[in-house]
Amino acid sequence: MSDTRVVKVRAVEKVTEEQLEKYNRAQGESAFLTEKDLRSSIKSIRQTIKNEEVRLRLKYKWLQHQNMIGLITFMLSLISLVMIGIMYIKRRIHWGFVVPMMALPGSIMHEIEHDLIHNLYFKSKQWVQHAMFFVIWFTKMSIPPWYRKMLHLRHHVVSGQRRDIEERLIGLGMPLGWLRWIVTLNPFTVTLILGDIQKDNKKDWNKDKLVLASIPTIIPLVVLWHLLLSFIRLQLGLTMGAYDPVHYLPLWLWPYVRDASVLILLPNLLRQACLNLMASYSHYYGDIPQNNVYYQNQIIDHWLMYPFQLFCFNFGATHIFHHFIPNQPFYLRQMLSKKAKEECVAHGIRRNDFGIVRRNNRYFEHDEEREEEEEKLLAQFEEEELKMMHDAQDNGLPDEQ
Ligand SMILES: [Zn+2]
Ligand SMILES: [Zn+2]
Repeated sequence: MSDTRVVKVRAVEKVTEEQLEKYNRAQGESAFLTEKDLRSSIKSIRQTIKNEEVRLRLKYKWLQHQNMIGLITFMLSLISLVMIGIMYIKRRIHWGFVVPMMALPGSIMHEIEHDLIHNLYFKSKQWVQHAMFFVIWFTKMSIPPWYRKMLHLRHHVVSGQRRDIEERLIGLGMPLGWLRWIVTLNPFTVTLILGDIQKDNKKDWNKDKLVLASIPTIIPLVVLWHLLLSFIRLQLGLTMGAYDPVHYLPLWLWPYVRDASVLILLPNLLRQACLNLMASYSHYYGDIPQNNVYYQNQIIDHWLMYPFQLFCFNFGATHIFHHFIPNQPFYLRQMLSKKAKEECVAHGIRRNDFGIVRRNNRYFEHDEEREEEEEKLLAQFEEEELKMMHDAQDNGLPDEQ
């Protein structure tokens, strides 16, 4: 089946000097413009992305076979993973090459999973989607794709808000410190921040369900991770005396732990770390207005970031286009990125804003300490008020004072 969407090319309005001046003034004053103020820019960016899609679809007729492209890239990625795995088991490739080589098809699998979440392949054959989801679940060794679908669609609705669970799970909005680093670089440590996310999402999300959903993949990965570290410690002689539990590890287990780590654990850690780094710093968080796509992302396309972009299909440079137009497959997003980027930058969208790291993903500079203090005071006040209300309920409302 082919995708036969007919989309027309429409004229794009150029950004005016007056508009740009207004945008710059707002930036200078650390003020957000309303969606109404930005409407013409948002419309132009969306239309440019759509126009590029039409142009590419007319130029490259094969693009219309969207299901087939999805299936072929999925199969090729799967075959690559298996072939590299076999070559490693036969000791034809050094493990140092195997890890990045496995991470590359893994990153394509991640993109296909994301496209399936947006229903871009096999819309009318749900069972194919489920079958692909199942395979992807165990190649990525991450949370179940069906669960991620719920989190990701939520991300599109509440991007950059406290309720954006998907991005918060990779450290979005946290100050740059050891906790953010380990959350970004190590998917197991997410449990450390689940409580905070739960607090902001009491009504419609339950962290325990996420933990339950992670059992089939994350738990074996955590066990493997610890076994690998223990064996490495044992081999390097870094043991803690005669009573260190690593002495009880059976030596026959080591080759299996080593091979499973090289083929499954390390490529996924590498891929995930690169993706998390790009994803968590291309999204703004905390101070941006709700439902205003203009402020949700920036473009990261600095050459220093290429090594990270390699393992996440250029996420930092192109994810923003997906926020403007979500129903395009990953390869198309990359193909139209040049024109789309030019348009975004012309309309004042930020590019390579590395200050985002210092600002903990906020769009503008904030006095975090003061805000935290204010928030604490407000919570304290609300608590006291609640207590007074309870007292009044228990003791009867006081008469006029
Ligand atoms: Zn996003
Ligand atoms: Zn999406």
